[in-house]
Amino acid sequence: MDKLVSAKKTKEIVNKHGFKFSKSLGQNFLIDENILYSIVHGSNVTKEDTVIEVGPGIGTLTQVLCEEAKRVVAIEIDKTLIPILGETLGDKDNIDIVNEDVLKVDVHTLLRDLKVEGSIKLIANLPYYITTPIVMKFLEEKVPVKGITVMIQKEVADRMRASAGTKEYGALSVAVQYYCEPHIITKVPRSVFIPQPKVESTVINLEVLEKPRVQVRDEKLLFKIVRAAFGKRRKTLLNALSNSGLNFEKDFIREALERAEIDPKRRGETLSIDEFAKLADAFII
Ligand code: SAM
Repeated sequence: MDKLVSAKKTKEIVNKHGFKFSKSLGQNFLIDENILYSIVHGSNVTKEDTVIEVGPGIGTLTQVLCEEAKRVVAIEIDKTLIPILGETLGDKDNIDIVNEDVLKVDVHTLLRDLKVEGSIKLIANLPYYITTPIVMKFLEEKVPVKGITVMIQKEVADRMRASAGTKEYGALSVAVQYYCEPHIITKVPRSVFIPQPKVESTVINLEVLEKPRVQVRDEKLLFKIVRAAFGKRRKTLLNALSNSGLNFEKDFIREALERAEIDPKRRGETLSIDEFAKLADAFII
């Protein structure tokens, strides 16, 4: 099959199969070869890797991933795309197409059932309506991926790599940077998709760290504190943590802040990941 990555070829396939784009499934197909290769090269994929691709669409990126990787497991929710993928990837013998909702599928079981071994990377042009849940699912469920290279909405990429004290810094920045080292690969204009999305995009590579960036005694407690701190961004840390779902008395929170040597009048958005970790440990006595 010829390369799919062009407006002409994409329209030809879509029209031939009478495919209707679904806005609610975030279907914006890539038509630009340079951007496609930015994703592939930015991921450092090699013949040693199995790639998990979320949302192959008509198989534009998948085609190239099949050439560059050992194996590709592509998870696509839209059943109307499955026969199209059967045609566009019919000449590939290293692809498994899984017709599932990525947020519902147990990725560990899937990888075990497919007997996937060795190095695994997640590479995708993600549906924007669920970018954060997908990335967080892979990180929190500790799917053994070495790297995550995804095209996502520019603002979400900015939040993933934001530093403490900036307006983009939030619970997502802390969560992503706890597990990963983010690298921006390239910015992407709207014109490289059919149909064009309303937002600008960025390709980001999240290099998954061998162990989390900071050590904490209770990871769940860390993230509860982070969510509480950012839930009420404009309040002081003491008030934000006191008026949240955290089940601690205000005095105990004040003492924990003291033990962690963090001024209770500071706002959550000024705390580095190290400070959040120190604070979480100070809750355990
Ligand atoms: N990879 C193709 C490309 O680059 O042209 C298509 C990318 S398009 C932005 C997102 C794809 O994700 C669509 O094919 C859509 O049907 C699929 N998708 C949306 N929600 C999904 C979900 N929950 N699980 C799996 N795939 C999903």
